Amino acid sequence: MAGAFRAAYGTGPAGIWAAPGRVNLIGEHTDYNDGFVMPLALPHTTLVAARPRTDGVLRLRSAHPAGASAPVRGKGRTVELAVEDLRPAAVGGWAGYPAGVVWAMRQAKLPVGGADLHYDSTVPVGAGLSSSAALEVATAFALNDLYGLGLAPQSLAQLAQRAENAFVGVPCGIMDQTAAACCTQGHALFLDTRDLTRRQVPFDLAGEGLRLLVVDTRVKHELGDGAYAARRAGCERGARALGVHALRDVGYTQLPAALARLDGDPVAQRYVRHVVTENRRVQDVIEHLDAGDTRAIGPVLSAGHASLRDDFEISCAELDLAVDSALAAGALGARMTGGGFGGSAIVLVEEADAEAVGKAVTESFAAAGHTAPRIFTAVPGQGAHRVE
Ligand code: ADP
Ligand code: MG
Repeated sequence: MAGAFRAAYGTGPAGIWAAPGRVNLIGEHTDYNDGFVMPLALPHTTLVAARPRTDGVLRLRSAHPAGASAPVRGKGRTVELAVEDLRPAAVGGWAGYPAGVVWAMRQAKLPVGGADLHYDSTVPVGAGLSSSAALEVATAFALNDLYGLGLAPQSLAQLAQRAENAFVGVPCGIMDQTAAACCTQGHALFLDTRDLTRRQVPFDLAGEGLRLLVVDTRVKHELGDGAYAARRAGCERGARALGVHALRDVGYTQLPAALARLDGDPVAQRYVRHVVTENRRVQDVIEHLDAGDTRAIGPVLSAGHASLRDDFEISCAELDLAVDSALAAGALGARMTGGGFGGSAIVLVEEADAEAVGKAVTESFAAAGHTAPRIFTAVPGQGAHRVE
């Protein structure tokens, strides 16, 4: 990293920072309903080598192939911008994510100026593992240190979310950035997205002879963006009709009454049922983990998948096949994770069955004529931090 930085910018970096990708264990599409989520950080990280500049110039480069997607301004792959000129939606391609963080910080009246930034990453991009949040949060941590802002990880996550929402124009919730900023090794992170209360929940899979596999289906269906907006709108419609601020306010025991009130709107009914039962599933998972019964979360994960597939309608053939073939091969539980319409699934398996389950999933994809999935083990990793 330091060598690549020096080759690009002529001098060495002032430091190197890392931020991880994530998988969400349970709590899907709840974060824009003020609900509960439970992500864990992956060992895969985005690294940024950085150095401050005094002339208000922001230079950005990424060694990752995704970094070639930027409209080239400046030398070679380097994107060059003036921090004074940053405006929402004005920076296309990948550079919008880090530039958006600088913009969000300056909007918040934080004393952030120019910088030279060089990125590299092992987070699969566009696989639902949140490479975008890793990119933003690595940037936020670097700028926090370079400019002595003294902000806490959760505040940096909120600035990163603002960058993605208001600058890049992606209406994501707070989960991904909080996961990248606040997760700790060996834990899943319980987050109440209403008041941002967090709890690190021990999640020692290896110690219990278990494994969490990630199945990256390698597909991302175009439907995704519009469908996400439609789900958000449907949830808001449901909340309005029920007279609550957000669907978080509908308790599990109130669900039958709520569904009855939404009688004329079957779509909102299904979305509400997903969100309310999903919040309950997060609490169920925590109870099982607190009781030391990790295996018991398997069926909860699988129920979450059925809800996303049937009620929220955001699964797809590849995700369903990953889940079904894993369960048929003996997995304890499986579900799609992330936004849906492609991306990744997670599979909880006995350590001894992991290889056979992975093989079964791969074979089912081949038999269906799908691109071979990428399968790896998720070991709960560390949140963003300074590396050097
Ligand atoms: P996900 O967050 O699930 O990986 P997104 O579509 O939200 O998928 O974000 C992917 C985008 O983030 C890429 O298209 C690219 O613009 C940007 N990106 C992520 N990581 C990098 C990286 N290391 N270098 C350059 N761009 C990146
Ligand atoms: Mg993303």
